Amino acid sequence: MPTATWDYEVFWKETISLLRKELSEQEFIMWFNNMHYLSSAEAEITLSVPSSFYKDQIIKRYLPHIEEKLAALSGNQIKISFKIVSTKVAKSGGKETNDGREKEPASATIPEKKTVHSHPKLNGEYSFDKFVIGENNSFAANAAFAIAKNPGTAYNPCLIYGGVGLGKTHLIQAIGNQAYNDFQNLNIAYVTAEEFTNEFIFSIKEKGMPRFKNKYRKVDILLIDDIHFLPGKVETQEELFHTFNALYEANKQMVFTCDRPVSELKTLSDRLRSRFERGLNVDLQPPNYETRMAILRQKIEGKKAEIPNEVIELICKNVTTNVRDLEKALTKLLAYADLVNKKITLEIAQRQLKDFFAQPLQRNITFDLIQRIVAEYFGLSSNELKSKKRTKAIALPRQIAMYIAREITEYSTTEVGLNFGGRDHTTVMHACQKIENELKTDATLEPTIQHLIRTIKEFKTNI
Ligand code: ADP
Ligand code: MG
Repeated sequence: MPTATWDYEVFWKETISLLRKELSEQEFIMWFNNMHYLSSAEAEITLSVPSSFYKDQIIKRYLPHIEEKLAALSGNQIKISFKIVSTKVAKSGGKETNDGREKEPASATIPEKKTVHSHPKLNGEYSFDKFVIGENNSFAANAAFAIAKNPGTAYNPCLIYGGVGLGKTHLIQAIGNQAYNDFQNLNIAYVTAEEFTNEFIFSIKEKGMPRFKNKYRKVDILLIDDIHFLPGKVETQEELFHTFNALYEANKQMVFTCDRPVSELKTLSDRLRSRFERGLNVDLQPPNYETRMAILRQKIEGKKAEIPNEVIELICKNVTTNVRDLEKALTKLLAYADLVNKKITLEIAQRQLKDFFAQPLQRNITFDLIQRIVAEYFGLSSNELKSKKRTKAIALPRQIAMYIAREITEYSTTEVGLNFGGRDHTTVMHACQKIENELKTDATLEPTIQHLIRTIKEFKTNI
């Protein structure tokens, strides 16, 4: 039997160019610049996508439409299958055809050219080409890139959320850097929510409100980092609400970052919350082992010191929390090597980083710290966590705090009980059991607990 060779690439290219005409540029860059043709088989095309999330979204949003187009062009029912290959994001602004065949290694970086012009408020190091992507962040990174290339179109506003050290500031600033570089006439403002608040208060005191309004309501791109700082600041929220509306009406791009989903921000006005939730909300998760390796390799590039692979592996196996911790471990090692003028070996790394790796289990994570962070997260006071009150609003956060104490410290259940208002150790055991059960049924609990643990550990390492 003769073997037929199937090559549908030409139909795929045509489909893609039709889609490009139909969709907004931002939407096209976001969903199709990272999808590449890989191969054809009988009545089948295989495409690469950067993550399973992408695959699911493409299937949901575009698959029937794509298959329809392919059928019309080829006269055949062609099935699409996907292969997950972490890939580079958007080549030179999405102007090229989407026909890349190359397979990238997992967790490649975004290959935009280094930003040449630098915005006075932005760190030039926070560029897309220095941001390593993996399954944990590919959606956020691609969304950010699409926004930078076409600000103020489809994804407005955009909220990027995730725990400490996962790349929120890097991404929001990369948007600013990229847009600043590509569109010289755009007015881009980057502030942290804390700076925004302070500037607002100062403006009221100094009668500088017209200047303040003029500054923030006239920008083309407004980037506000760490909006979890806003809860409780009623007047600042009010001002931001009006700024938001003015910019939204004028189709100006807004991007915000937050350390948790906005639905979990206590004492944020409902109307502001609903504004943040409008548009696109994307999350950043902790990187997996493979991505941590790629990040660390990228961080080492260009550094004088040679670091053997086994040392990189050692760090990536032990530092699982976030990218900032990875960087800290590396900095510590490089500083030591520099100081003693020695080559870094596995033994040296093990010795030097022993404490760093052990940190989460050290006893100096205090009950006070755990209680403070958990209480603040749930809008309670530490005293309420220790009190006898048993309402659900307090009991669950208390159980979570006890569970976390057992997870990240070596305190016994008796010690935990004593420090939670003199409770018995069986109460602590019961609390931990309850949380473990809840974790099996409530999908939202795990990210919350992980976020709290990260915050506690991060706080610890900052002291
Ligand atoms: P966050 O604002 O979420 O707390 P940052 O953006 O400050 O985190 O990131 C912490 C550090 O980790 C920064 O130095 C940043 O450049 C780096 N980083 C985070 N994610 C990545 C990534 N995917 N690739 C490369 N570096 C990263
Ligand atoms: Mg940050």
